[in-house]
Amino acid sequence: MTHNVTATSAAEAEKAITATRTDGHTERVRVFDTTLRDGEQAPGINLDAATKVAIAAHLERLAVDVIEAGFPASSPGDFKAVSRVAEAARGATVAALARILPEDIDRAAQALRPALKPRLHTFIATSPIHLKNKLFMTEREVIEAIAAGVSRARSHVADVEFSAEDATRTDPAFLKEAYETAIRNGARTCNVADTVGYCLPEQFGELVAWLIHEVPGGQEVVWSVHCHNDLGLATANALAGIRAGARQAEVTVNGIGERAGNCSLEELVLALRTHAGSIGLDTGVDTTHIGQASELTATSTGYPVPANKAIVGRNAFAHESGIHQHGVLLARETYEHIDAATLGLRGGQLVLGKHSGRHGFTAALAQLGVELSDAELRAAYAEFKAVADQRSPLTSDELRELAGKYRAGRETAAHALR
Ligand SMILES: [Zn+2]
Repeated sequence: MTHNVTATSAAEAEKAITATRTDGHTERVRVFDTTLRDGEQAPGINLDAATKVAIAAHLERLAVDVIEAGFPASSPGDFKAVSRVAEAARGATVAALARILPEDIDRAAQALRPALKPRLHTFIATSPIHLKNKLFMTEREVIEAIAAGVSRARSHVADVEFSAEDATRTDPAFLKEAYETAIRNGARTCNVADTVGYCLPEQFGELVAWLIHEVPGGQEVVWSVHCHNDLGLATANALAGIRAGARQAEVTVNGIGERAGNCSLEELVLALRTHAGSIGLDTGVDTTHIGQASELTATSTGYPVPANKAIVGRNAFAHESGIHQHGVLLARETYEHIDAATLGLRGGQLVLGKHSGRHGFTAALAQLGVELSDAELRAAYAEFKAVADQRSPLTSDELRELAGKYRAGRETAAHALR
């Protein structure tokens, strides 16, 4: 990939960010959630209309700016689901996806009819690989399709987003022409899709900065980023695009989506919020609903959240090793820089296993409401270490049972004295 990207445009974008930072002003990044569209496209996920409405209600509680509800032309079921979400959502803009084909665009517009704030999101691939292998179209034909498609979308709704699919493997001069055509025909949001998760953060940031600077009309629209996780860089790439000037990020709850998934909503939101003071950018997301949204998405899609997933994984706020448990018991920020309570999650969770020490063991028993004398505690701890060395971690019930044996011993002794 060779982007004809000037160092000046990237430097200018960086300078703009520094300017926002020094005057203490925080600029807003719009969150476009595509859990119900790209997320649903992950193999094996099938969400019916009622489930989409339930997830959309959680997304509204999170206060995302846009909910992409589906791809109406893909099936009658999805048409109905998009319609139902459009009817139910009252705060967020509801988007529907359409290939840049008249019938797809009309179908999406029809599904969006009940929406208070409809957005038609139309796309076409621009890379030579996609033109040759999938679209069987020339570059001229693609430009004509963009002009016709975007203006048709605008004849239905005012809010039109255009995406160049596989933008990151597209010749920059042609990509520039594609976006210019979309803007001239009425697109208000231009989305740069790293469809196959190919870019490195510096490359992606430079491309976005270059497009904003070079595309005629590029300063008048909102630029958006859509990053996939094939190299594990989706969040890093989305952040690089935002720092280069994009003001919308397309994300999914738990990072689900095609193949390795999309940029995860919770990761992007927390990265921006954690560093809002230094980078001067933030989203409007109410993080207190993140825990619930993650759980509902996992159960509805059948895609469990990996234990070590950032922010919402079971272990994101759990500690097993003695040194970490001791630190967290003294002050939670020793090993947790995010306050789990602000996400609707529980922080400082102690997992009792072979790496745990006396401080963690004592605190875990206290949390279970088990009181032991010093001598009993010593004996129980010795047994715990022996058991945990063979089989860990121990569940709360196992811990209670283990400690109970020593406590029971004391009670038996007390009975005997009576
Ligand atoms: Zn995607």
